Amino acid sequence: MVEVERTGGIEEILRRLLKYADRVYGLSEMIRQVGDTRKGEGEYQTPAVARGLLVMLLARVGSFNALEQHQWGGFAKRWVGGRLPKADQMGRITASVETKDLRVVSRKLIRKMKRNKAFRKAFEEGRGQVVVDGHEISASFLRCCPDCLERTIHMSEEDRVQYYHRCVTAMWVCGEWTILLDMEMQAGGEDEVACSVRCLERVIRDYGRSFDKVVADSLYARAPFFKMCLDYGKDAMAVLKDERREVLRDAEGLMDKMTPEQWEEDGKVYRCWDLEGFESWDAMDRPVRVVRTVETQTIRRQKDGRLEVKTAGWWWVMTLSKEKFPSRAAVKGGHRRWAVENEGFNELVNEWHADHVYKHDVNAMTVIWLLLFVAYNLFHAFIRLNVKAAMRIDKSIRYWVDRIKANFYAGSDIIPDTS
Ligand SMILES: [Zn+2]
Repeated sequence: MVEVERTGGIEEILRRLLKYADRVYGLSEMIRQVGDTRKGEGEYQTPAVARGLLVMLLARVGSFNALEQHQWGGFAKRWVGGRLPKADQMGRITASVETKDLRVVSRKLIRKMKRNKAFRKAFEEGRGQVVVDGHEISASFLRCCPDCLERTIHMSEEDRVQYYHRCVTAMWVCGEWTILLDMEMQAGGEDEVACSVRCLERVIRDYGRSFDKVVADSLYARAPFFKMCLDYGKDAMAVLKDERREVLRDAEGLMDKMTPEQWEEDGKVYRCWDLEGFESWDAMDRPVRVVRTVETQTIRRQKDGRLEVKTAGWWWVMTLSKEKFPSRAAVKGGHRRWAVENEGFNELVNEWHADHVYKHDVNAMTVIWLLLFVAYNLFHAFIRLNVKAAMRIDKSIRYWVDRIKANFYAGSDIIPDTS
């Protein structure tokens, strides 16, 4: 391993990543089409700003000021392909970058990944599913903008108005891959499900052939959402909780009398009740299916080494047919929703600083998130497809992103650029 590092492997990871992005996907060229809503040409070119932002996110530079103070040199400067403005103006341009152009970049990247057979193995398991979920990006009592959402927080002495921003994200989960497809910022007067419908309509238009079902948490067990999925030829599946009490009560009554199907997988014992034909959800004009599991796992406790039995229970409501998705496949799909938390948001927030507000402006936040999606998808494709398996063993995401950062700060002038 030392041998590999000394001969220019991991130490130059950012340079290799950017070269890979251009060689395999033509990313730099794709970004050339990114425009903005500023009047006139301006002193600074938008594609260079967009590339600069992408490098800033990949290297977790942290702020426009830190980016301004960095002595750009070598490969990173060449890749950006133009001068970058000072921090203030960087913020203003970010607030005017055309998000539709960034969505085109993101879409082209994902389509090329697909064409390059990046997901070949994943597709063997079926067409995959899209997971939608909401996420709060920022909240403050002091800072607000015209697009901030507002809520009243009851405090011991007074009620205070808190300002915040939320977005809905659509992720494509296929096999072990999690690909960030698209997002929408929640607008004032709109709830999360309505926002997700806006997001999903575009996702279905842009990526519709890559998935056949949409999976979400219990908030999405609503008729307009389920119907919209069906209208576009997609199945819907959501966690079933009290929001759909009528269905839950019906299902409980019938399932209590049934003998569950049982199977074991990865050290877990599943007991599963699975019934179709529930018509008690009035707002849905077709029957739905309910799947319930009780999952038992014996684990060894870390603190004293004793064995402990853990049990968890799940309920889902769905339009998926039993014939197309038997119990085990449906349960597996339901659990892959957690990818949105474990692989998606957690990684975005903890490793890529997605909740950092670089510029408090709704367009700037969208631009940063869409570029984060490009960074995330590119990074995972690079690590999975371009780094030898032996080098990936036991390496966390943090390990790689730390090295990208180190390469950005130390590498640009010190390591001779031989590309
Ligand atoms: Zn705001």
